[in-house]
Amino acid sequence: MTFDPAALVSTPAEGRSCGTCTLCCKVFDVPSLEKPAGQWCKHCLPGRGCGIHETRPQHCRAFHCMWMTASWLADEWKPERSKFVLTTDPATRNLLVQVDPGQPRAWRQDPFYAQFKRWAQSALAENKHVIVFVNKAATVVLPDRDVEVGIIGPGDSLSFQKRVTAHGVLVDVKKVSAAAGA
Ligand code: SF4
Ligand code: SF4
Repeated sequence: MTFDPAALVSTPAEGRSCGTCTLCCKVFDVPSLEKPAGQWCKHCLPGRGCGIHETRPQHCRAFHCMWMTASWLADEWKPERSKFVLTTDPATRNLLVQVDPGQPRAWRQDPFYAQFKRWAQSALAENKHVIVFVNKAATVVLPDRDVEVGIIGPGDSLSFQKRVTAHGVLVDVKKVSAAAGA
């Protein structure tokens, strides 16, 4: 399960612009530039934008984070303030939270953490989940607990199994490694 931001072709909501935010140029891989997740792109001018704006890869052109496209997200959710970038996986519709590794616990602050818990609860009925990444290390946020699943490599995936218990519906989470499926 490798999330590719370039798979998201989206239009910014009215009035939304990146302004001084450049966090997506740090937190995601950019394969064509051999830029790993969690390190600033060599072309990024942090706080100012892209140094090769006219010729930036298609991967970068296509991408807008959720704060850019969802006008209902308040200003504190802007990635340069929250220290994480929200996206939706186009295949699974899971909510992905890609955190600035310089502030790996930013997502645990409120109002964010409480909201992630609410989203985790409401998404459960549709078998969707909230998954937090710090570089490639993933944590699944469930209504009753958070499950650290470790590094998600290329081809790895997550399996979710619902269980009805005396305390309600619980979800078991398991990493399925690409090597195991080979
Ligand atoms: S993280 Fe979002 S708001 Fe920030 S630069 Fe990227 S697309 Fe723009
Ligand atoms: S090429 Fe430009 S837009 Fe793409 S990651 Fe680097 S700085 Fe950001």
